[in-house]
Parts: sequence; structure tokens; C-alpha cells
Amino acid sequence: MDLEYSEEYKAYRDEVREFLRGWPLAGDDANLPLVEQEALFRRLSIEAGYVYRNVPGQYGGAGQEPDALKDSIVRDEFYAAGAPGDLKTQGAGLLVPTLLEFGTEVQKRRFIPAALTGEEAWCQGYSEPGSGSDLASLQCQATLDGDHFVVNGQKIWTSMAQRADWMFGLFRTDPDLSKHAGISYLLVDMKSPGIDVRPLKEMTGGTEFNEVFFDDVCVPVENLVGQRGEGWAVSRATLIHERNLIGNPNMMRDSFNDLLDLARRTLRRGRPAIEDPHLRQRLVEIEGYVRTQETSNMLQFTAQLRGEAQKAMRPMMMNKLFSTDTAQMIQRCAYDLLGADGMLAPAEEDVAGWKRNTTSTGWVEAYIFSLGPAIAGGASNIQLNIIGERGYGLPRDIRKPT
Ligand SMILES: Cc1cc2nc3c(=O)[nH]c(=O)nc-3n(C[C@H](O)[C@H](O)[C@H](O)COP(=O)(O)OP(=O)(O)OC[C@H]3O[C@@H](n4cnc5c(N)ncnc54)[C@H](O)[C@@H]3O)c2cc1C
Repeated sequence: MDLEYSEEYKAYRDEVREFLRGWPLAGDDANLPLVEQEALFRRLSIEAGYVYRNVPGQYGGAGQEPDALKDSIVRDEFYAAGAPGDLKTQGAGLLVPTLLEFGTEVQKRRFIPAALTGEEAWCQGYSEPGSGSDLASLQCQATLDGDHFVVNGQKIWTSMAQRADWMFGLFRTDPDLSKHAGISYLLVDMKSPGIDVRPLKEMTGGTEFNEVFFDDVCVPVENLVGQRGEGWAVSRATLIHERNLIGNPNMMRDSFNDLLDLARRTLRRGRPAIEDPHLRQRLVEIEGYVRTQETSNMLQFTAQLRGEAQKAMRPMMMNKLFSTDTAQMIQRCAYDLLGADGMLAPAEEDVAGWKRNTTSTGWVEAYIFSLGPAIAGGASNIQLNIIGERGYGLPRDIRKPT
């Protein structure tokens, strides 16, 4: 195995590093609020061809030729520099690839640019109180009435709905057809009359989740993505991207290094906890998982570069399960190290999703938060079914009759 980059790609990495000397911003720009600095640098990065590399220029991307090696160099270098790269929002990360595949020209031009910059925030309206893993049983109705759909029903667990301008969601447009066939993918303006967003308090103390109620909400027919009744196929594209977004090997390595740091700083009977043989054994085991994920990512990457799509599938399917399991092991180990500090409630500034941890309450929040990604975007049991059935051709699990 040759893990060296060719001269061409080494030169490309140098070029990216040179560009990244511009981050953090200097001069007057450094006095702007952080979000504005990030937006400015992201614009410069698109113009330079590094961010949203594969999104065509007419929709606000960099319009570069696909090149997986360049993508990975940009991702690693931007991550190492702490620079704002592609947004990992529901809009940029999930909706944009879906619209690129299934959207009309008008939808692409109207929605993609503002989703890429974050000027318009999106939420994902899939889950309902009785429909999570069994998503195709969803009941929220969208009835066609002339040039618009009339939506009635409820969504739940809708992350960030309270701050979203738009929702992409699945709605039942043909109740008489069998479950998958009667579903359509609609873009809903969250300012439409008849929408009621109710935040839900989480155990981290935050309120990322919401219930969303629809009462005779009008959605123009031009906001239908793909054909009516084909929303299931459209939504599969979004879910593949969601599962890929959840697994990032760089983050996992950093998180593990933060755990090692905590183990060095924590004292047990007057000695650094990292000297305890039981803890060392646990750390070695966790590092095994971190390395396995890194290797699995390389296998997937190599197969993609060689155009071996089928071979890339298995590591890709395992990515989400692997990363959420390993993240939980890391956070659980840190939580155990905290001892009595583990009883502290996370501070408000800790409740910010997946981020680097330096404080005890930051680790408490990370531990509680780590339970969520193992459910979001397809629970771990469902991932196991997918890997077994589609990845290895095992017999299908027993399903509830439809
Ligand atoms: C952090 C987070 C963010 C989320 N954000 C969003 C969002 O923005 N938009 C949105 O629409 N939804 C969102 N969700 C909801 C998420 O998609 C659902 O929670 C998920 O699909 C599981 O559905 P459920 O909660 O109804 O659990 P259920 O489907 O009821 O599952 C309960 C348990 O049963 C197991 N199970 C179910 N069926 C099977 C089976 N066939 N075989 C084996 N085991 C099974 C599951 O693995 C799970 O352990 C989010 C969830 C989380 C945790």
C-alpha cells in the first residue's frame, strides 16, 4: 500500500495551506462578528475553488471538476486550520445534494445559493410521532388542491425548526397508494400561515428539537421535488448524505486525543489517571476502534478513487454505526473519569453540539449528546440491518406486516 501523495497533489496541498494563511482574518475584517468573518472567508474560499468544490458555479459553488483526492486535502487542511469550509447544515449538507440530483432548474437557482451561504436555514421534516425507523408509515397529509398542496398533521424531532426559514419534508399525497408510493418530497416555507413550532427541552438542557404542527398550510406545487408519489426515492438521496455527514475520522481522532489529555490531567490517588492499568487497557481498546475507523475510511476512499463503487459500499454503510459507537465509548470513558464532577449540569455555553472539550461540564454535555447521533438519521439497529442485508446479503430481518 502506497499512502504517499503524488507531486501534483503535494503541490495542491501547499497551495491550500498558502491560501489558509488568510485565516483567521486580519485588519478591519478581524473586528467583524465571528459569523460575518466566517461568511466572508467562505465566499473567498468558493472563489478560490476550495469550498463547495463540486457544486456548479451557476448555483453558487466553486464549479470544480470532481476529484476525491483534492476534496480530502481541502477537508483535512481546512479542519486543521480551524477554517470555515463547507457548512454542515441541513441545507448545505442534505438539501443541496438532493436538489442537484432531483430539483428543477428553477428550484436549483432559487434555493441552492442561499442554502450554501446559510442565508436561508433549513430543517428536515421526516419523523412523526408514530414514524421514525418505520418512516414510510408517515401520516402527515398534503392534499393537492389546484395549484397548491394543503398540509395537515405533525412532525417531531425536527432539529432547528425554530430557526429555520424552510423545511424539506416528506408528506403523504396519495393516501390510497401503498405506503412508499404515496409519499412526496415538498419544500415548505416555515413562515406560512398555519405552522406552529413548539421547542422540546432535551436532557442536555438545550432545545434543538421541535414539534411542528401544520394546520391547512399552503405549499405551491412548484415546491414539489421530483414527481408526486416519488418522495421516497428522493429522500433516500438525503439520508445517504446525512449518514456520511455523521462520520468524520478527524473529529474522532481529536476527540480521542482530548480524552487522553483528560486522563493525563485527572488525578487518582495522587497519580495521573493515565497510569492506571485498567484505564490504559480501556484507552487501548478505544484507540483500536478509532484506528479501525480511519482504516475503514481509507478503504472506502481507495475504492472510490478506483471507481469500485460496490467495494466502497460496505465501509460507507458501516461509517455511521462505527463513528457513533466509538464517539459514545470516548464520551463514556471521559464521563467515568470525571467522578463527582459528572453530576454537574452542562453550562449554557456547553450546549453546542459536537465540539472540542476542555471543561468537565463540556464532557458531561458531550456524553449526553453522544446518545443522539446513534439514533438520528437511522438508529444503530437499523444500520445493522442495512449492513447485514444489503452489504452482506444476509436473510431479511423479520418485519411487521405492512
Ligand atoms: C439528535 C437527533 C436529531 C434528529 N433530527 C431530526 C430531524 O431534524 N428531522 C427528523 O425528521 N427527524 C430527526 N430525528 C429523529 C430520528 O430520525 C428518529 O429518532 C429515528 O429515525 C428513530 O425513530 P424513533 O425515534 O421513532 O425510534 P423508533 O423507530 O421507535 O425506534 C426505537 C428503537 O427500536 C429499534 N427498532 C425500530 N425498528 C427496528 C427494526 N426493524 N429492527 C431492529 N430494531 C428496530 C430502533 O433501533 C430503536 O432502538 C432526530 C433524532 C435525533 C436523536
